[in-house]
Amino acid sequence: MLISTDELAGITDIGTLGFVPTMGALHAGHASLIKVSVRQCDVTVVSVFVNPAQFGEGEDLDRYPRTLEADISIAKEAGADYVYAPTIEEVYPHYPALSLAGEELEPGLLARNWEGKLRPGHFEGVVAVVKRLFDLVQPDYAYFGEKDFQQLRVLEDMVARLQLPVEIRPCFTMRDADGIALSSRNRYLSAEEREQARSIPTALMAMRDAFKEGETGTNKLLNLAQDVLDESIQLDYLAIVDELTLEPIERLTEGCDRQARAIFAGRVASTRLIDNLPFNS
Ligand code: AMP
Repeated sequence: MLISTDELAGITDIGTLGFVPTMGALHAGHASLIKVSVRQCDVTVVSVFVNPAQFGEGEDLDRYPRTLEADISIAKEAGADYVYAPTIEEVYPHYPALSLAGEELEPGLLARNWEGKLRPGHFEGVVAVVKRLFDLVQPDYAYFGEKDFQQLRVLEDMVARLQLPVEIRPCFTMRDADGIALSSRNRYLSAEEREQARSIPTALMAMRDAFKEGETGTNKLLNLAQDVLDESIQLDYLAIVDELTLEPIERLTEGCDRQARAIFAGRVASTRLIDNLPFNS
């Protein structure tokens, strides 16, 4: 099940290769990506690598859950063929420098706002590791969750700009029964905090539902969501953006807006959560 860097070279010409990059602590959200890849590709590789370059100072790199044995079981159960868990030196040959020689990658314009603004260096770390993993695994298709919508768009943009020979396939966000988007970070939440976090999907859905009932002004929708969000939540941002540009939208297209998405980031006690919802869902 575990595959080494050297062994990767032997699987690239077996057929279509699907790749699901993760930071481990796998849950049903990751499993859904794996299952899509398994349905669509001949061979599926899941990587597990906690990428230090995408964590900022004071973020949760040290306490990020590391559960490789359980991850292997979940990946296997979902039908993956291989789990690739490279060492830090394999990903970053100049470690402890987290740099890749000759690969000064720009995360691009889509990385300017939202997560990019609040987490300086985050998307630089994301594009660096994903490009490096693409080079190592050489997939035909790579599966990413809409849960991290800006990340998905930044990576689609990177693949287009660099004309990489891989197709990014977006996958829906999986949620728990209470509506909360599955996330490896949910395990940090106490029962009380989880109750507060429930207001995040509720607020996003309230905006979408009000839009479906005819409200097209995004300020009104955002005010409505603010009222629904638990007041203990420290908001980083709540916005309605164009999916292509990630720029805020002032007025939605009545009836069906195919390109608008509500995005949220904030802190429930010490846990930072992100979520988003398309208006056409
Ligand atoms: P992570 O391990 O958090 O880096 O996530 C690895 C991949 O799984 C990314 O493409 C995420 O967008 C995706 N993912 C995380 N949570 C979910 C979810 N609840 N539903 C679907 N995909 C998810």
